[in-house]
Amino acid sequence: MQLVGSDCAVCHRGITFAPEAASCPTCAIAFHLTCLSAPSTCPTCGSNFTQLTVSRAQATTAGHAQAVAWGRKAALAVCLALFATQASLIGAALVGGTATPTHVVQFLISLVLIAALYFGYGWARVWLALSSGFGAVVAFSLAWTASRTGNLGNAFFLSSLVIIFAVSFGLLLFSSRVALFLASQRSGA
Ligand SMILES: [Zn+2]
Ligand SMILES: [Zn+2]
Repeated sequence: MQLVGSDCAVCHRGITFAPEAASCPTCAIAFHLTCLSAPSTCPTCGSNFTQLTVSRAQATTAGHAQAVAWGRKAALAVCLALFATQASLIGAALVGGTATPTHVVQFLISLVLIAALYFGYGWARVWLALSSGFGAVVAFSLAWTASRTGNLGNAFFLSSLVIIFAVSFGLLLFSSRVALFLASQRSGA
């Protein structure tokens, strides 16, 4: 909490100089160090506020590391899912003999985008999020048509694309933990 400008919880006078004061993170109160009856002991709850402040800071750091680790897994899952999708599309085109140079170029571009996403480039995140959102809508309408025409194998494949695209879209745009991880990739932290 902000020390300067707070009132001392013991003598109720203002704190004007941070080094002569401290605060208890549990009670959210501040006090002059000279007003304490025992050193490092909160006048309200009686606990050691120095230790509390240190463990609070450690908990915040640990929470941040946990969020980044979760974001890393989610980002990796999105990258792998999008890669698998692109690979299955080009694979199907190659097997079916319908692959064109455009397919190959699109596949290579998507590889670059996925790699750029993993390394935290914001434009790759926005681009992949928007194209995932678009892909989800397209795959959904194709899945709908396929199921109406009784092509259940195709409908099933397209439905799994809808899920992959929709989850990627949501994670990339709205997950604060993914954003945290991507930011940490860019800062090299
Ligand atoms: Zn005081
Ligand atoms: Zn306290």
